[in-house]
Amino acid sequence: MDDAADLESFRRTLREFALSHCPPEIRAVVAANRKLGRKEWSAWQRILHARGWGAPSWPKAHGGTGWDLRHRHAFDEVMAECDCPPQYHHGLRHIGPVLIEFGTPEQQAHFLPGILNGEDWWCQGYSEPGAGSDLASLKTRAERDGEEYVVTGQKLWTSHAHESDWMYTLVRTSSAGKRQEGITMLLIPLRSPGITVRPVPTIDGWHHVNEVFLDGVRVPAANRIGEEGKGWTYGKFLLDRERLGGANVAPAFRFLDRARALVAAELQGPQNRLKREMLAMRLLQIEAELRGARELGLAAIDDVMNGRPLGIAPSVLKLSTSEAMQRTSQVALDAVGHRLATRFRPVDASGPNAEVGEIEWLQNYLYLRAKTIFGGSSEVQKNVIARQLFGT
Ligand SMILES: Cc1cc2nc3c(=O)[nH]c(=O)nc-3n(C[C@H](O)[C@H](O)[C@H](O)COP(=O)(O)OP(=O)(O)OC[C@H]3O[C@@H](n4cnc5c(N)ncnc54)[C@H](O)[C@@H]3O)c2cc1C
Repeated sequence: MDDAADLESFRRTLREFALSHCPPEIRAVVAANRKLGRKEWSAWQRILHARGWGAPSWPKAHGGTGWDLRHRHAFDEVMAECDCPPQYHHGLRHIGPVLIEFGTPEQQAHFLPGILNGEDWWCQGYSEPGAGSDLASLKTRAERDGEEYVVTGQKLWTSHAHESDWMYTLVRTSSAGKRQEGITMLLIPLRSPGITVRPVPTIDGWHHVNEVFLDGVRVPAANRIGEEGKGWTYGKFLLDRERLGGANVAPAFRFLDRARALVAAELQGPQNRLKREMLAMRLLQIEAELRGARELGLAAIDDVMNGRPLGIAPSVLKLSTSEAMQRTSQVALDAVGHRLATRFRPVDASGPNAEVGEIEWLQNYLYLRAKTIFGGSSEVQKNVIARQLFGT
């Protein structure tokens, strides 16, 4: 079998599995772009783990599939096309690979199984007030005291901290030398005394981000990744692993399909023709951009597999897919928004509500404002692109 036929047959196997094994109630949550929580993610992770597909990006020696990048991309794409949840990334795609690369055998044995079977839930404690885009200015301090660190400070925007067991964290262990050199990576159990997690209310009405306060939290030194003062290296390794995350454009296509169906259903009849066609044209432009992004993603995967440098592709992918999703949600709101305007706050999609589908478009519109901020803001991506292209 040649490469293309092999990949097509692989996709068929994935599709059959996804449609027969991902519970319909979970696929319904994904299909409606509702907020996913630990319950749905963990259930799906257990199913994938039982099939041997729990960790598509890990080596076989650590319980992964050992798939190459092309197969991993096919997996992500097919799962999104079938409305299966994306795998929860903080364990599998972030701290898992760091543990595999830099963790001790004891740390690997202790932490990897819980990530693989979906029992342990992780969050990322990087950002702080005043340290987001400029992460190296983080101030949360960790002082060594015997076999422990004592950690004091505040993390901000910590997604899922309220439902997590562990937080992988960058802390400052020294203020001497370059800012990056005094940073250490610690794994902190969130149930430790001295930790307070408070929700940060967001405009979409969902609870996803938090403030995490650390007040003299004692963390065993055995929970340090690698060497003290080398946390910046591990933290960057973690983020670099995600650089091609934007190559999976399938969720953006699914979102576009749904907006297209909404426009067609909402704006029927000759009296709505002009508006319907104008919105359809905007969706067509977004589709053209997404098709371009998909090709760029496939070319970038090819570059990685052939040892060529990635260049600006990851930043262009992040920029274009997040902005395309924002614009898609804008089209959807232009189709139904006039009915939602009077109910702008509070957004409540939890109760029995005949118009819950529309409310979800509004929530998505509001939630997606954050997509051009987290994971590297659009302005920061543009700086990266400019630096690489023009050396400025
Ligand atoms: C929904 C959501 C979830 C998040 N989840 C997490 C999480 O789980 N863990 C975590 O650690 N963090 C998380 N973050 C934080 C996120 O990484 C930061 O918000 C992001 O890095 C921006 O940092 P900031 O908020 O401090 O804004 P700032 O860095 O202060 O930026 C403010 C504005 O200035 C612009 N800007 C900044 N620097 C430059 C520059 N050099 N050139 C031009 N413009 C610039 C930015 O683009 C932005 O528009 C999350 C954020 C959001 C919104």
